[in-house]
Amino acid sequence: MTKPQGALRNRIAVITGAAGGIGSAVARAYAEQGGRLALVDRSVELLAPIQEELARGGHEVLPIAVDLRDEASVQSAFRKIREQLGEPDILVNNAGIDTTSRLVDMPTQMWDEMMAVNLRSVFLTTREVLPGMIARKWGRIINTASQLGHKGAADMVHYCAAKAGVIGFTRALAYEVAASGVTVNAVCPGPIDTPLLQALPQAWLDKKRAELPIGRFGRVEEVAPAFVLLASEQGSYFIGSTVNMNGGDYMI
Ligand code: NAD
Repeated sequence: MTKPQGALRNRIAVITGAAGGIGSAVARAYAEQGGRLALVDRSVELLAPIQEELARGGHEVLPIAVDLRDEASVQSAFRKIREQLGEPDILVNNAGIDTTSRLVDMPTQMWDEMMAVNLRSVFLTTREVLPGMIARKWGRIINTASQLGHKGAADMVHYCAAKAGVIGFTRALAYEVAASGVTVNAVCPGPIDTPLLQALPQAWLDKKRAELPIGRFGRVEEVAPAFVLLASEQGSYFIGSTVNMNGGDYMI
């Protein structure tokens, strides 16, 4: 049940990619902390399992279908959120895709798709919520980047470029709005056991697991607490941070 004194009590939070592994874990954690949630993903059918799970725990959430590649779809989704829940206090830009190809073989369409979903969407959604946050002098933008925004990985030039872009976006916007009471930060996970990770080639997964100091992939519940902290009042001095959790894969 919702904690009466939860860290996100009565905050309106929008989570993109909420049907996925990390997004649904963030939704669980935010619901437990009293947040009022709009869960955003490609269809309401994809969102039904997490919506039903949260409803069983007494948390009613608003499911919203959107194609984050499409500006009109994003604008319409945020119109619905404003009408049905109110102005968002917290935005978690978490939706993402993961494909692999050697650069020399990469079709332009694969590059463009990666930029549209993993980077351009962050601009489109953030632009929707920022005026309200600045007007109320309180807001939290949390972007799911990746450790691959800091370091490289073969066959993932487009993914690494997009996630480095998310980190640059986070830092630049953090400068722009810090004095307005809005914090902008990024979470940079290493390999976390979700459908996105499992879609990668098995040989890549085996090699990656063997390299990890901790000897295993991360669990989504190990990622979610950072999103709670960054969204909370207590997270107010995190400005333009990249919060890393990666089992020791990349220490900075
Ligand atoms: P996931 O595939 O389980 O979830 C991603 C969600 O994004 C899916 O529910 C999908 O439907 C949604 N989505 C994709 N395209 C969309 C679009 N056009 N419009 C709306 N929604 C769309 O993956 P995950 O592992 O939970 O990943 C969440 C985020 O974490 C991603 O940004 C990913 O890049 C990042 N990340 C994941 C890992 C990992 O190892 N799993 C590591 C670092 C960063």
